[in-house]
Amino acid sequence: MQVVVIGAGLTGCLTALGFADRGHQVTILEQAATLLSRASAANEGKVHLGYVFGADPYFHTAERLIDDAILFRPILEHWISAAEFAAVVCDPFVYVVPADSGLPLDVIRCHFARVDARLNARMDELGLRYLGQPGPFHSRPLPDGGSAGATCFLTPERAVWPQGISAIVARAVTLHPRIEVRYLAEVARVVDRGEKWHVGFATADAKDEGPFDIVINCAWADRRNIDRRSGYPSAGPWFTRYKFGVVLRSASHHLADAIPPNITATSGPFGDCVYYPMNDSLYASWYPVGMCFSTMADTLRRPSFSPSEMQSLMRETWQGCASFAPVLGRLATMDSPLPAELLGDFIIAKGRSDIDDPASGLHQRSDHGPARLARGYWSIETGKYVSAPRCAMDCVRECLEEF
Ligand SMILES: Cc1cc2nc3c(=O)[nH]c(=O)nc-3n(C[C@H](O)[C@H](O)[C@H](O)COP(=O)(O)OP(=O)(O)OC[C@H]3O[C@@H](n4cnc5c(N)ncnc54)[C@H](O)[C@@H]3O)c2cc1C
Repeated sequence: MQVVVIGAGLTGCLTALGFADRGHQVTILEQAATLLSRASAANEGKVHLGYVFGADPYFHTAERLIDDAILFRPILEHWISAAEFAAVVCDPFVYVVPADSGLPLDVIRCHFARVDARLNARMDELGLRYLGQPGPFHSRPLPDGGSAGATCFLTPERAVWPQGISAIVARAVTLHPRIEVRYLAEVARVVDRGEKWHVGFATADAKDEGPFDIVINCAWADRRNIDRRSGYPSAGPWFTRYKFGVVLRSASHHLADAIPPNITATSGPFGDCVYYPMNDSLYASWYPVGMCFSTMADTLRRPSFSPSEMQSLMRETWQGCASFAPVLGRLATMDSPLPAELLGDFIIAKGRSDIDDPASGLHQRSDHGPARLARGYWSIETGKYVSAPRCAMDCVRECLEEF
């Protein structure tokens, strides 16, 4: 069959590979000039197990993410060798829970124990190991604690280096004999012409392309707009945030021997830091600075910052992160130009308010995945980076079951 995939993020690339490996001819239409240049490259690569979703009263988010996370490596290893995969896995995260945590410490402790138990049970049931790590896993408080009465837990949760994964997945896509990629192709809508689908582009002079038997919309930030213009509006409400982090290059040079452990600060102002030893860079994000706007609108415009604004935002991010990783405060005093860059993109989820609202829908993130809009037209809500491989494979399987 002729399959068209809209969007070449991790979800789109894996979906294309899934169809092509089953013998179908795939065209990827990507608005950018390269593969995997947007959210799948701009995220910190945390392979979530749900520790951060303690405010979901139903535990559905952790249940869903645990399965997504366990399947992450085995799915990717269809195209990434075990050695290549092992080389992109980072050290485990320490969770720092401040003394004035938004969730009581006892609730967090119980949630962590429940995540551990669920993870160990699901690994046994599926016969798979989270990121290839042996387990069983038990989060445990660290005796030396954090600053100002914070409690620290060492968890099994880890990040991968997204740029490393992107490079290997991009190689698999470009070398695949049944995948053709069309760059700078911004899709506006999908058109039903009887049994076949055609694709219309945003540029006025571009002709529709088709016919295709199957269309898979993996456009993430523009996904709902394409579906809506094609006659399939999605049920909301959708809450979109733009978040960036700061990537410090040559981290071991700038921080000497003081590179912090990988940290997630949670249930107060959120923040993360992740060290990628494979390219000696350190990612840091501080929500009060990096979560720079939110909207319930469908049309999204990326923020642009002047060079001096970027330098200020980097310093403010590191200053904020100093509350859970004091050494990062040192970076804020370095001379300009800073040896770092801002990396950001949209985060889209169902909800009406931000995460500081305990009742926000953003605390419940379990209903992502592929949706069948019509025979041969599917739209994938990735949810999270960790979920991309499973969403892609679920879509390929469910879609082909119909043909
Ligand atoms: C700063 C940040 C940190 C994050 N951290 C994590 C994390 O640690 N762990 C985690 O699990 N998740 C994280 N996420 C979420 C995660 O990045 C996304 O859920 C995931 O990468 C989405 O993948 P995707 O393939 O669906 O989208 P993308 O990677 O954005 O791919 C979509 C592609 O579609 C293309 N496209 C869009 N519109 C069109 C169009 N009209 N025509 C043609 N092509 C189009 C885009 O150019 C893009 O290449 C983070 C997100 C951000 C922004």
